[in-house]
Amino acid sequence: ANKARGTKVAAGFALGLEGAEMGKVVTRFPPEPSGYLHIGHAKAAMLNQYFAKMYQGKLIIRFDDTNPSKEKTEFEETILEDLELLEIRGDVVTHTSDYFDQLYDLALKMIESGKAYADDTEREQMQLERREGIASAHRDDSVEDNLKHFAEMKTGSSEGLRWCIRAKMSVDNPNKALRDPVIYRCNPQPHHRTGDKWKIYPTYDFACPIVDSIEGVTHALRTNEYRDRNPQYSWMIDALGLRKVNIWDFSRLNFIYTLLSKRKLHEFVNNGQVRGWDDPRFPTVRGIRRRGLTVEALRQFMLLQGPSQAIVSLEWDTIWALNKKVIDPIAPRHWAIMEEEKVPVTINGGPTDVEVKSLPKHKKNPAVGEKNTVYSSKILVDQEDAKSFEDQEEITLMDWGNAIVKSKSVDATGTVTSIEMDLHLEGDFKKTKKKITWLSQPTAEHPLVPVTLLDYDYLITKKKLEENDSVKDFITPVTEFRQSALADANVSDLSKGDYLQFERNGYFIFDGVNKEDGRLEFIRIPDGKAANLA
Ligand code: ATP
Ligand code: MG
Ligand code: MG
Repeated sequence: ANKARGTKVAAGFALGLEGAEMGKVVTRFPPEPSGYLHIGHAKAAMLNQYFAKMYQGKLIIRFDDTNPSKEKTEFEETILEDLELLEIRGDVVTHTSDYFDQLYDLALKMIESGKAYADDTEREQMQLERREGIASAHRDDSVEDNLKHFAEMKTGSSEGLRWCIRAKMSVDNPNKALRDPVIYRCNPQPHHRTGDKWKIYPTYDFACPIVDSIEGVTHALRTNEYRDRNPQYSWMIDALGLRKVNIWDFSRLNFIYTLLSKRKLHEFVNNGQVRGWDDPRFPTVRGIRRRGLTVEALRQFMLLQGPSQAIVSLEWDTIWALNKKVIDPIAPRHWAIMEEEKVPVTINGGPTDVEVKSLPKHKKNPAVGEKNTVYSSKILVDQEDAKSFEDQEEITLMDWGNAIVKSKSVDATGTVTSIEMDLHLEGDFKKTKKKITWLSQPTAEHPLVPVTLLDYDYLITKKKLEENDSVKDFITPVTEFRQSALADANVSDLSKGDYLQFERNGYFIFDGVNKEDGRLEFIRIPDGKAANLA
């Protein structure tokens, strides 16, 4: 089924970008430096990267920094790190603020040619007029008056602050995006790059088409909630006689049980519901990478979504199932036994001295390397397995051979406290029902490694929050689950960010050593079981 879908997608993309010429395509990803990137941004960034590559063109990373009230240099640095985590490097990094001089000149030009005017209509009144299709009282003011107000705005005075500049597009076009949109605002706050040079800033609607055109962007990818604003985008370019840009729209990405608004993510961090922007419960690029989502799976997922115009909330299972297919062939296999209620087992006929064997870390992929497996007559097994053993049952100790359960001590609560088995290496592992993982009991020379296995739940309890829902009514009370386990000593060779499988348990990513308790921490990687893609 997957393959067929892949072909269909490829066909969708074969239509490609309209008017695209090999070697001449320029795309851009325009984040506002006002927060960290999330999985929605990853879609935009990856599609831009995909098309730039497909046509051997150029990708511009442009910081869209036109609102000094929200933006910071710090976020530029973290966004570049986020892009690095997505393996995206632009051919060039630019800023909308690089063009403030030109944007100012073009705004003057628009006023001088009668295509823009200054307006001091109160915010609510302006909204009402735009809604009802009523012309502003200032719509036909003289060019001199408009220039005078614009000059006043430029000083950042309290008089200037009352005014804005609007493009003279239409009073009552059925497309409300065309009803004289605001193109310049006054804001006396210092800008993180241009300091106090400017007190006026272009709006996104004005700056975006102009800078796209000036920078040589051939194809501007925009989320389709901007579709109503596409004619406005073209109007700006026409009004100023600039080079045309193609628009390619795609749908905004949403996930069930997930908030993707910068403001709400800020709230989760500030209220301590997560530990930071890289929290594995977070849909940020940092969060999902830390949870074990590979760039490869993200890319495949985004390309599957690529041409779709539907704005729906997607299931996380789909992306995790893709991810599992990426990591399964390369994840080394390790073993862990749950620390609480672990069961000591005596193996009659086992080695009298400890023996160590080198075994492949991945049975189907020798390139993953070898690990040491320790054999002795004293081992540990999981309580859950121990409970299931029947008297005289023949079971298989994985990577060793069969053994027959001879006796089992059980306490008053039903907990198995010890087991005795006879090794039965002549036994056929194909005939046993239970194939279990085990670990040789730790000694000074052959220790086990104390680890913590971490698992997470969604931060919110409702699939899709509605406009009027208050987030605080839908906070999942407990979202982090910790289990103590003992792992084979080979896990000490892992580096932070390595993928692995604890066999019969799941896929994990090594998250480093906990500073307080010294245990190695492993985050469970969801495997999208419910998605049924396999
Ligand atoms: P918006 O401007 O719509 O509020 P934003 O402020 O969250 O988006 P920006 O930094 O302006 O974030 O976004 C950079 C780019 O990422 C934009 O091109 C935007 O369309 C795109 N983007 C943001 N969120 C999503 C999403 N959920 N799905 C797809 N693309 C997105
Ligand atoms: Mg934006
Ligand atoms: Mg936003």
